[in-house]
Amino acid sequence: MGSIMEASLFTRKIEAEITKEVERLKSEGHNPSLSVVVVGNSPSTMVYFKNMSHKGVELGFYVELRKIDESTGAADVLELIHQLNESKDVDGVLVGLPLPKEYDVDSILHAISPDKDVDAFHPFNMGQLMIGRPRFVPATARSIIALLENYGVRIQGRNAVVVGRSNIVGKPVASLLLQRDATVTVCHSKTSDLARYTREADILIVSMGRPRAITADYVKEGAVVIDVGINDVNGKIVGDVDFDGVRPKVSLITPVPGGVGVLTTLMLFDNVLKAARFNSGKS
Ligand code: NDP
Repeated sequence: MGSIMEASLFTRKIEAEITKEVERLKSEGHNPSLSVVVVGNSPSTMVYFKNMSHKGVELGFYVELRKIDESTGAADVLELIHQLNESKDVDGVLVGLPLPKEYDVDSILHAISPDKDVDAFHPFNMGQLMIGRPRFVPATARSIIALLENYGVRIQGRNAVVVGRSNIVGKPVASLLLQRDATVTVCHSKTSDLARYTREADILIVSMGRPRAITADYVKEGAVVIDVGINDVNGKIVGDVDFDGVRPKVSLITPVPGGVGVLTTLMLFDNVLKAARFNSGKS
C-alpha cells in the first residue's frame, strides 16, 4: 500500500523560511507586497483570493486586492497594470483567472512586468524556464518539485510522465523535471494509448482536469504519483487520479485535497519574495 505524501508535514518549515525572509527585508526597510487584480464578482474567485490574501498577510506580506467591476473595459485593466508596474511600493502583480470571455487574456497577462510576474505567465519568464535559467516559476510546478524533494524521491535518471501540457502546470513541471535529469514524456488529449506511456512512469504527474481518470490500470507497480487535479464532483473535491484504486499499487501518492494544492499559495508568496528582492535591488 503506497504512503500518502502529506504536504502539511512540511508547510510549517516553508512558512518559517518565508516569514524569516520577509522580516529580513522589512528590517532593511522594504515591505514585500503583492497586488491582485480581480475582475468581476464571482463568489468562488473572491473566496479563493481572499483566502490567498489572508495567508499572505499571516506570512507578513502587504496584500492588496484590486477589485474591478466586470463592466470595466480591458483598456482600464491594462492601465491599472501599468500603474502597478510603475509603483515602487508594489513587488508582485497577478491577475485573477478566469477573466471575462471578451478580454484578450494574453494581452492582459503579458502586460505585467516580467520583474513582477509572480504567476510566471510572461513569455520572458517562461523562456527563462525553458532554457534552464528560471527566474519566476509557476507556483504549482514548484509545489510538485517541492513534494518530490521533501519525500526524497530521486528524479535523476527516472522516467517521468506528465499528463497535461498547460502553460501553468504541465509544461513548466516537465521543464523542471528535465533540468533535474529525468527522462520526460508529456502526454495530452491527442496522445493515443495514454496508458502505454503512463505505465512506464517511475514518476507520474497528472494535471488533466478529468475527475479520477487515472485508474490502477494506468500506473506501474511502485510508481510515485502526483495528482494536481482539483475537480468538484457533486460538491466533493476529487483529483484526476482514482486515489483508492491506485494507492495499493504505488509507493507514494498525493491526496486531493491535502497534496499539491496545500503548497501552491506558499510557493506563490515565495515568488513575491523574489520579486521584492528584485524591486529593492537586493536580488
Ligand atoms: P488545462 O485544462 O489547462 O489542461 C489540461 C491538460 O490535460 C491539457 O493539456 C489536455 O490536453 C490534457 N487532457 C485533457 N484530457 C485528457 C485526456 N483524456 N488524456 C490526456 N490528456 C488530457 O488544465 P490545468 O493544467 O490548468 O489544470 C489541470 C487540473 O489541475 C485542473 O483540475 C485544475 O483545477 C488543477 N489545478 C490545480 C492546481 C493546484 O494547485 N493543485 C493549480 C492549477 C490547476 P490538450 O492540451 O490536448 O487539450
